[in-house]
Amino acid sequence: MSDNWIALVPVDPHFIPSPGRQTIARNRLDEIAPDADQIEIIVSESVRFFDCGANFPKILCPSCGKEIALDWWSERMDDDYQDGFKLDRYCTPCCNSASPLHELIYDWPQAFGCFALDVMNPRIGTLENEHRRELEEILETKLVVVYQHI
Ligand SMILES: [Zn+2]
Repeated sequence: MSDNWIALVPVDPHFIPSPGRQTIARNRLDEIAPDADQIEIIVSESVRFFDCGANFPKILCPSCGKEIALDWWSERMDDDYQDGFKLDRYCTPCCNSASPLHELIYDWPQAFGCFALDVMNPRIGTLENEHRRELEEILETKLVVVYQHI
C-alpha cells in the first residue's frame, strides 16, 4: 500500500506565515480535502527539503535550461546541508551560473522551506489552481506544490 502527500511550501524558503494565518489555511485545506488522513502544519527553525519521493524529478538549470546530472546535485545537497540547508550559490556544470539549490528547476516540483502544510493521502488528485491561489492569499505567499509519492 503506497501513500501520497501534498506539501505546500512558500517560494521563499525562509518565509513563515503568522500563526493565525497558518490555522486559517489549515482549516480551509480541511474543507478542500475532507477525506485526507492527516493535515499537518510543519514549522522548522532551519530550512528543510521537501522531496517528491518516487516521483523522481528532472533537474534543470534555471539559466540555460540544460538537464543537471543527479550526481552533481546530490553532492551539492550534501555540501549545502549543515543543521538545515544554507542555500549557498553553486556554479552549475553546464553554464557556470551561480544558483542556490532552491532556484534550480525541479520537474516534478521539490521545495526548500521552514514552513509547510503537509497533507497525507489527500484523495483529491491534484490541488486545483483556484484552491492554490486561495491558500496563497491566506498565507500571503506564493506556494510550491510538492506531490510526494512513496
Ligand atoms: Zn546552465
